[in-house]
Amino acid sequence: MDFDLPEETRMLQGTVRKFVEKELFPLETSLPDRPNSHELPADVKAILMEKVRALGLWAMEAPEEIGGGGLGLLDHCIVTEEAYRCTAGRSLWSSLFFPVLNTLGTPEQKEKYLIPGIKGEFHGASAFSEPNAAGDLAGIQTSAEKVDGGWKLNGTKCWISHAKSAKFVLVLTRLKGTSRHEGMTWFIVDAGTDGFSVGREQRMIHGQSTYELFLNDCVVTESQLLGEPGQGWGAGESALYRGRVMISARAIGIAQRCYEMMIDYAKIRHTFGKPLSSRQAIQWMIADSATDLHASRLMVYEAAWRAQQGQEVRTQMAMIKAFTSEMAGRVVDRAVQIHGAAGLSDETILERCYRDVRPMRIYEGSSEAMRSVIARNELQSGRNR
Ligand SMILES: Cc1cc2nc3c(=O)[nH]c(=O)nc-3n(C[C@H](O)[C@H](O)[C@H](O)COP(=O)(O)OP(=O)(O)OC[C@H]3O[C@@H](n4cnc5c(N)ncnc54)[C@H](O)[C@@H]3O)c2cc1C
Repeated sequence: MDFDLPEETRMLQGTVRKFVEKELFPLETSLPDRPNSHELPADVKAILMEKVRALGLWAMEAPEEIGGGGLGLLDHCIVTEEAYRCTAGRSLWSSLFFPVLNTLGTPEQKEKYLIPGIKGEFHGASAFSEPNAAGDLAGIQTSAEKVDGGWKLNGTKCWISHAKSAKFVLVLTRLKGTSRHEGMTWFIVDAGTDGFSVGREQRMIHGQSTYELFLNDCVVTESQLLGEPGQGWGAGESALYRGRVMISARAIGIAQRCYEMMIDYAKIRHTFGKPLSSRQAIQWMIADSATDLHASRLMVYEAAWRAQQGQEVRTQMAMIKAFTSEMAGRVVDRAVQIHGAAGLSDETILERCYRDVRPMRIYEGSSEAMRSVIARNELQSGRNR
């Protein structure tokens, strides 16, 4: 067995680490609205976007044939982990590529919606959650009904990221009269389509917003149907699957930075005449965090590597999503504790990280949902081997 990262992956890791530390770390303390935004001023972002492109990492997860970086899952994890050590410039690493559009889209749909997104010309949003069904996705009620020349959509979506500025929204619906996993169907709805509107802004703990969306007798043409009618469930599931590994990589990146900060601070902060690092209570927090990070990396890299080999890793994906999102919460919390008041103030990035990791236990499959998947699969297969 060889647990070392491949040589090329380590080189990529080194390049991204250098870029993040040189170009992005200095921006952390100069961002406008620092406690609430990761976003960079447009002019600064444009320059950095070009540099990320030059590294071949813009839209890194998208296939090369449609203009992406074509990175494998393991390399994508490594880059994401390095990028998320920094609270600034995170949108540089996510082009909002939509696997579901890539899988189900016609060449015309990819040309019109996917490729401009990859070029960074505009972005879309993805809407599956509803007021009465989000975690329980098979319970969605937004309906699609065949009408002359197209489809009529009716329903309400909520918690939709990026919806306000999106040029288009991928909307998960169900064919009228179907229930649960049957009849799920995706549509591409252009912003500005009659009967489609963006509602209330829902501000989140980490400063980003989600939005309600309304579809009231919203008629779209046949060309806006994404995939075959009724094919939506499987495609949506596989898109979530990749998303879950990326959340794990982000969680590791954030936890790693907080871990580095707790070590540095424990060495320089003296109380009662001694550095914090000499106290067993503090050493144990450091030891537990080091162990948490080590376990997370082993789990995530292995799952990413196996997925890249085409192996079935459904259970591992659920394990890493639940484990790493909870792990990041523990590590960030210890870092805050060690920093005392400084950890709670906006004089360090820790309070920001504290808020950033909390949503990870809820979106793209909550910890409880992940445990249900693990238990169901384990009970079926009978053993964890
Ligand atoms: C920051 C953020 C961004 C988001 N962006 C998007 C987006 O772009 N597009 C989109 O469509 N959605 C988005 N969502 C919605 C997200 O997918 C849902 O919040 C998530 O699926 C959970 O659904 P829910 O909030 O309705 O919780 P619920 O499903 O109501 O669950 C509430 C709680 O009960 C637990 N629970 C539920 N059922 C069970 C059970 N059977 N057994 C035990 N416990 C259970 C859950 O784990 C959870 O802790 C976003 C959410 C957040 C927080």
